[in-house]
Amino acid sequence: MSQQVDTLIIGQGICGTFLSLQLEKAGSSHLVIDELRPFSASRIAAGLINPVTGRRLVTTWMIDELLASAREAYGQLPATLGNSFLSETSVTEFFPTAQMRLAFLDRLAQDASYLHLPADEGRWNTCFHYELGYGTISPCYLVDMQGLLKAARTRMIGQGILLEQRFEKEDLQIGKDYVQYGDIIARRVIFCDGIESFTSPWFSKLPFAPNKGEVLILDIPELIPFPKTIFKKGISLAPWQDGLFWVGSSYEWSFTTEAPTKTFRDKTELLLKNWVKLPFKVIDHLASVRPATLERRPFVGFHPLYPSVGILNGMGTKGCSLAPHFARQLVAHITTGSTIRPDADVQRFTRLLSR
Ligand SMILES: Cc1cc2nc3c(=O)[nH]c(=O)nc-3n(C[C@H](O)[C@H](O)[C@H](O)COP(=O)(O)OP(=O)(O)OC[C@H]3O[C@@H](n4cnc5c(N)ncnc54)[C@H](O)[C@@H]3O)c2cc1C
Repeated sequence: MSQQVDTLIIGQGICGTFLSLQLEKAGSSHLVIDELRPFSASRIAAGLINPVTGRRLVTTWMIDELLASAREAYGQLPATLGNSFLSETSVTEFFPTAQMRLAFLDRLAQDASYLHLPADEGRWNTCFHYELGYGTISPCYLVDMQGLLKAARTRMIGQGILLEQRFEKEDLQIGKDYVQYGDIIARRVIFCDGIESFTSPWFSKLPFAPNKGEVLILDIPELIPFPKTIFKKGISLAPWQDGLFWVGSSYEWSFTTEAPTKTFRDKTELLLKNWVKLPFKVIDHLASVRPATLERRPFVGFHPLYPSVGILNGMGTKGCSLAPHFARQLVAHITTGSTIRPDADVQRFTRLLSR
């Protein structure tokens, strides 16, 4: 017997999770197919939402709107998942060079919305080496990605809407207003499959730009009293699960392996020895590839030639803030016909996708 739903979602990373929650809120039936990949981008992300970025500390694209959206979307999670998985935090940015200190002070003079100077420059003297002082960035937010994905997955299994299996693209049949996958018939399929879309028969022509990130997981017992602070000196040190700390990450446009490398580990351990005064132990070393895009804008919406095939992807380094916002925009588009922001709508590539 066939199973009929409104939407078939491929992937349960941060995109598939928020899409499922938004469809549920809209009362729209759906199924999710996800094979559990422990090293998908969402599963090794630090979970940081930082309103400023880069060496020039400029505010990131759409940040005020994204922060408002994130507060709302994560704020609704206690009702369904029992926890918001979001906490407010700040980034303590130790200046790695004199230029970075100047850049911070320059930026602070232009726009003090998120940048602050500390009242007590010596506060972290017992924990870190920092000869050039520090500034703070706040408010920032930290998402417990591991906790959120696990809770959402458990709930989906309980609801009978998650199929834990590999999705085989060649088995998907596409009609004008339906798709069929085995015995599942849906009005649409939406790909939230991260880097798998790079080789998709429908979306591989999009200007994806894979970006690799490597991370070390550390035990720093004496740093546990500061559970919600993120420290940064070139690399970031953030709280991770089980009282451990996440350190990273690399940001590589060109790489020969998706696996963790000795080069990253040696370089990062050396950086840590010159920065952290407290004893630490490396517990794990992880790597993943970010589904980033050349223009640094997400891919949201439906294929111009196949209106029953959609995508929510291309979140790059900012899945925690972009995914909830654009999942809501996509569901509003499906249920009310409202428009998707043109610089995120995948239809901006109509010519490319129609070749
Ligand atoms: C090291 C690192 C650090 C990061 N830190 C941050 C951060 O601090 N803040 C932030 O906002 N972002 C961060 N990011 C970026 C963030 O992780 C991504 O933007 C986001 O996770 C992408 O989510 P996604 O749902 O699109 O893809 P994914 O997380 O890759 O999820 C895709 C899912 O699809 C499933 N799937 C794929 N193909 C198939 C198939 N054929 N069959 C079945 N299942 C399939 C996979 O199993 C997976 O569960 C970081 C990324 C990395 C690598």
